[in-house]
Amino acid sequence: MDLGIKGKTAIVCGGSKGLGRGSAEKLAEAGVDIVLAARTQGPLEETAGKIAEKYGIKVTPVAADVTTPEGRAKLLEAAPAPDILVNNAGGPPPGMWHEWGEDQWQAAIRANMLSPIHLMTAVLPGMIERRWGRIVNITSGSVKSPIAALGLSGAARSGLTGFVAGTSRQVAQYGVTINNLLPGQHDTDRIESLIKNTAGSKGISVEEARAEAHAANPTGRFGTTEEFGAACAFLCSAYAGYIVGQNLLLDGGAFNSTLG
Ligand code: NAP
Repeated sequence: MDLGIKGKTAIVCGGSKGLGRGSAEKLAEAGVDIVLAARTQGPLEETAGKIAEKYGIKVTPVAADVTTPEGRAKLLEAAPAPDILVNNAGGPPPGMWHEWGEDQWQAAIRANMLSPIHLMTAVLPGMIERRWGRIVNITSGSVKSPIAALGLSGAARSGLTGFVAGTSRQVAQYGVTINNLLPGQHDTDRIESLIKNTAGSKGISVEEARAEAHAANPTGRFGTTEEFGAACAFLCSAYAGYIVGQNLLLDGGAFNSTLG
């Protein structure tokens, strides 16, 4: 399917690996030029080179920490007028509610709530002026269905979700959409470290913990970055203009509910 976005430019944050990379790949397949951000130069440049070569589009790697004002400024300098923004960064560490003090809360809120809000605030005026824009925030299934050990993540991302709920409805009249993608368990480095954490706390092997997680999902497996990226690219497509302020759960049916 031609997504109708060939020749547009996207900023993809957290794009050297995992869900961000999957999103960058599917946007590239649709003919979108990518400005790709991650902190670690080597893997970032390698991913950027591979995507550019595979899809024949322009990929500009920007080594930047998107949770800092300097990192975001560097990114916006490389792409001052993006048509598409995919917000993403690492998630906060797991833990227990009584372990989290002021520093942990500030870090989680800065990384998973304020940073995407600052980037949206920076690109929205241009998108509104040009009467077209697509923003997708990669949040987490933990916004909808709590994962107790990921309380920092769930709480900070819920704040972001609240901002998107109102703002998306204010900017839709200008052809600009904002939506959130809520990943359940997908096969990435991040899930690998969470599985290791589960294995440690349950006193079982990593293989056993992974098998348990697979078995607990209606699909019997984790999601793939390709599946995730394709959903992201569709939300960024020309045909997604009437999808506004939604929270799309991609979890293989793990959240047990008849509606929503
Ligand atoms: P991942 O495989 O660890 O990849 C994270 C990517 O983001 C890497 O490219 C990483 O590169 C980059 N990154 C991390 N922090 C960054 C920062 N501050 N600035 C710029 N780039 C940064 O993680 P993932 O599994 O794709 O997860 C992506 C997001 O989805 C996370 O917030 C995660 O919590 C959330 N999530 C994932 C799952 C899942 O099943 N995978 C489920 C629910 C929620 P550098 O380290 O080099 O910066």
